[in-house]
Amino acid sequence: MNKINIIPLPYKYEELEPVISRQIMELHHDKHYVAYVNAANAAMEKTDKNREIMRDFSFNYNGAKMHEIFFDGMRKVRENNLPEGKILTEIERNFGSFENFKKEFSGAAGSVEGSGWAVLWGDSEKNLFVGQLEKHNLLGLNGLVPLLVLDVWEHAYYLDYLNDRKQYVEKFFGIINWDKVNEKLNGKLESC
Ligand code: MN
Repeated sequence: MNKINIIPLPYKYEELEPVISRQIMELHHDKHYVAYVNAANAAMEKTDKNREIMRDFSFNYNGAKMHEIFFDGMRKVRENNLPEGKILTEIERNFGSFENFKKEFSGAAGSVEGSGWAVLWGDSEKNLFVGQLEKHNLLGLNGLVPLLVLDVWEHAYYLDYLNDRKQYVEKFFGIINWDKVNEKLNGKLESC
């Protein structure tokens, strides 16, 4: 396997303000994410792929990839940041309404215990499923593609929101890049 690369942010550090501060984005991308990429590459190089090395590799590789999806799935804050097109159709088909989806996703994000992620997955039939990941990969489901992910590790919001994760999750809805979610739904899922 080739080494994985550090992907630059598709926007400036400060562009997600006031939802996510420049300080968090700098630390989150340049320190946390880069550390996962480097650790995954270091583990990949070890020829003796025993279980401990695989666990280390899996943790860091998934950590790197989850952050790629997370950073790619956000954009500058906008009012009434609602999904459009196919993703809206599929959200309505799967959850009844956008409001129902938002409630379910926020509930999943709010109830992650310790460090983890809220995830919207899709399968090849465009069935959508909201769930959680523990750490970066535990509880993962094969055959499902993550379309939208939200980092709820404390390093993702504590500097901006302290312990008010609920507020962070609510504000996140203003910066979801629904175009990217649509791209994932239209691209990756159809090739499953
Ligand atoms: Mn993170």
